[in-house]
Amino acid sequence: MRLFHRAASLALAACCAVAAALPLSAAPGGVPATRGDYVWPLAPRPAVARPFEPPPFKYGRGHRGVDLAGVPGQTVLAAGPGVVAFAGQVAGRPVVSIDHSDGLRTTYEPVASGLPAGEIVVAGAPIGALEAGHLGCGQAACLHWGLRRGEDYLNPLTLVGAVAIRLKPVDAPDRAPPAAAPR
Ligand SMILES: [Zn+2]
Repeated sequence: MRLFHRAASLALAACCAVAAALPLSAAPGGVPATRGDYVWPLAPRPAVARPFEPPPFKYGRGHRGVDLAGVPGQTVLAAGPGVVAFAGQVAGRPVVSIDHSDGLRTTYEPVASGLPAGEIVVAGAPIGALEAGHLGCGQAACLHWGLRRGEDYLNPLTLVGAVAIRLKPVDAPDRAPPAAAPR
């Protein structure tokens, strides 16, 4: 189990070292970004009201982002430098998405924004106002913060170094590798 995790972290480190070594000139739009450029999208640093729960399969149930506790009307910030890909209604909810030059897309909802698509933003730039009403939020308001690379949903807390990387939930014996089930 421990060795398995260590091998995975090494693989992850190798992957990210390669990604970090990519020249910034390859970035679309010429907006430089590295992992170090990301910030929390709410200030001061918010509590995580609901964690990231990746679905077991592509269209399965899960929570494809994290919910950050806030208050209605609170200013929402761009988590990193990039370009506004979309700001508007998706299935009745106001959503903002930002494309970053490292191939990542961050999404924010429910957030009312007047920004047009194509707007260039820096990390920490105000992008709109948080609304109440996110499903499953036990707070006055929750910012549902998502992170995608292509079709893959990732844990946005990795952007701000606020998550311990786990390969699987602790209590998911059905998905544990055979070597990890000695009990
Ligand atoms: Zn959510």
